[in-house]
Amino acid sequence: MNLEFLAPYFLGPYGENNDIFEKVLTELLRDHIYWRRNIHPEDLPSISTFASQEPEYQQAIAKLRAELHKLTASLKQSVPFFSPRYIGHMCSDLMMPGLIAQMITTLYNPNNVSFEAATVTVDLELKVGKQYAEMFGFNIDEDKAPCAWGHLTSGGTVANYESLWNFRAAKYYPIALAEAAKRLQLTLPSSKILNKPLIDASLWQLSNLSIDQVLALKEETESTVKELGTNLLLDYKDCVDQERIESLGPAYFFTRHIGLKQPLVLVPSSAHYSWQKAMRVMGFGSDQLIKIPVHSNMRLDTGSLRTVLESALNKNMPILSCVGILGTTEFGTIDPIHEILQLRDDYRAKGLEFYTHVDAAWGGYLASMFREEDGSEVSHDHIKEKFNYFPSDEVYQSITSIKDVDSVTIDPHKLGYLPFGAGGFISRNQEITQLLTQEAPYVFEETETLDHHPASQQFEKLGQFIMEGSKPGSVAAAAYVTHQVLPLNHHHFGRVIRQSIKTAEYFYDKLLELQERLKEHVTLCLPYTPDTNLICIAINPVNNRSLVKLNAFTQQIYSKLKISRETSPRDQEFIGSSTHLMRRNVSDSHAEELCHMLGVMPDDYVKKVEHKSRQSDRLMLLRHTIMNPWLVSDNDGTDYVTKYCDYLEELILDNLDNEFNSALVRKAQAV
Ligand SMILES: *Cc1c(COP(=O)(O)O)cnc(C)c1O
Repeated sequence: MNLEFLAPYFLGPYGENNDIFEKVLTELLRDHIYWRRNIHPEDLPSISTFASQEPEYQQAIAKLRAELHKLTASLKQSVPFFSPRYIGHMCSDLMMPGLIAQMITTLYNPNNVSFEAATVTVDLELKVGKQYAEMFGFNIDEDKAPCAWGHLTSGGTVANYESLWNFRAAKYYPIALAEAAKRLQLTLPSSKILNKPLIDASLWQLSNLSIDQVLALKEETESTVKELGTNLLLDYKDCVDQERIESLGPAYFFTRHIGLKQPLVLVPSSAHYSWQKAMRVMGFGSDQLIKIPVHSNMRLDTGSLRTVLESALNKNMPILSCVGILGTTEFGTIDPIHEILQLRDDYRAKGLEFYTHVDAAWGGYLASMFREEDGSEVSHDHIKEKFNYFPSDEVYQSITSIKDVDSVTIDPHKLGYLPFGAGGFISRNQEITQLLTQEAPYVFEETETLDHHPASQQFEKLGQFIMEGSKPGSVAAAAYVTHQVLPLNHHHFGRVIRQSIKTAEYFYDKLLELQERLKEHVTLCLPYTPDTNLICIAINPVNNRSLVKLNAFTQQIYSKLKISRETSPRDQEFIGSSTHLMRRNVSDSHAEELCHMLGVMPDDYVKKVEHKSRQSDRLMLLRHTIMNPWLVSDNDGTDYVTKYCDYLEELILDNLDNEFNSALVRKAQAV
């Protein structure tokens, strides 16, 4: 594969771009020093030129140097993410534009909590939010509503928290509006949104409005109250604030509204564990997190989702959100977002409303392949031309329907090739931030005028609208510079992503070859056709029927691929990762299918282990993340994919010899 186009963007596994990296970094470092000197050039240096002559100074510097050298010496034991021999977790070589931007911006130390602490980088962060929104197909024209906005977080976990935090604010706001109206004994006319007066609406109706409806109801009610008197509006707003779930706390809120049940959050059983944490953070409890089964391709089963929705509707169980995953952490599979949206519309018509979130922490950047430079969608046929398999109809429809969901999580520190500390949260309707602001209601006159300002000013006190407080502006600078150098479309960033998918397809084909080569010895099974660039395999020695043994065998192989305290990463041929397919997360039929494919006894694969020696609740898999740009290069014929497959073959055969020292296997090898 011709990887020349990637050459300018990475430092390179060999530090190939060392010259340019060092040159630019030094240039920008000096530039920073000049900036310091030019703030007030008339000021004299604070550290005297004699200071360095003092023994104490010299000791301190000696210590500093010694410690830094110790640090960098020990860091040599780090995991070499940059190396094409690393195909484990979601890390790789980093892109230079972002890396340098982040390093240099750290010198200026902006705090993106607000404009006052980050006069440059808050604006950049909001621009990055718009860049993501545009990539996903949301409207970013401020003159049209709803207009999207986005910001950065420390990672996907916090972005996921934020979706629930936003959704909760919207879900229960109408109840607070109604409660406050009752308390102040306001007689309000029939609402256009509810088709009846606010105070006559049921709890069920009030907790089943879309985000846009909630915001419209807020505006409608406020303008009606305002007509009754400006002071009344102030009282009303105060009162609404007191009646909100955020003020009362969930426990008290639910006891005050008898009949209102705890909301459910629906995720596929393949969801990242951050969703479990998110529930606890929100005070909902993980019991309210309902895991929807996936079907045999590891994608959310919309039939099961429909069943859950139907039962929720029948039991008056409110649903806060349904989450679809764009690129599951374990398998890279993509949920049918378009079908989730179809169900959302179907149930909306029946009066059951839930908000949709796409957890695209892993796969978010894939959307760049689907966007033309002018903002239009790339056609399915056009994308397909470049690949053997990607993207299936389902994947195409999923990615192009993101524009209709309520919010999205994306991780720049994964497929954005940026250093850690970078996640992103994008919301389809920026007005939802009105429900999050920590400002007291009496400043509404001011916010009203602020509404007409560009987003950069409306959100300049960023810390008011997001979960985090102080946060590094350097991350925003890194994402911004990267997206300027490689805009988030088909021709730029999309090319980088395309390369990783192409390499994954190549890897997939090579694994099929390996499967064929080894079929006398082991059953090598690729349980899921990859939707993206994560590939898992299961391996079982021929004739082995025991799942426990299969896992032990895989563990043996994995011990040579995993990062451990016993071996230095430098001594490892390749570095991979592993995962377990938990029995409780797959359907009965799929579990059976897997056992059949692998030749193990279905009775061994159980939800609850009773006989430790022969049963297991999990199936161990080797997991590979194909994102390193240098895996297969034309340059000197280096092909780490083939090398890895050969190495894996060697490991498998060695272990067969050691562990499964059966005459049969040896005989097969001798032939
Ligand atoms: C990685 C990941 C997360 C969590 O993101 P962090 O950046 O690790 O906090 C959430 N969801 C999915 C699907 C992920 O792949």
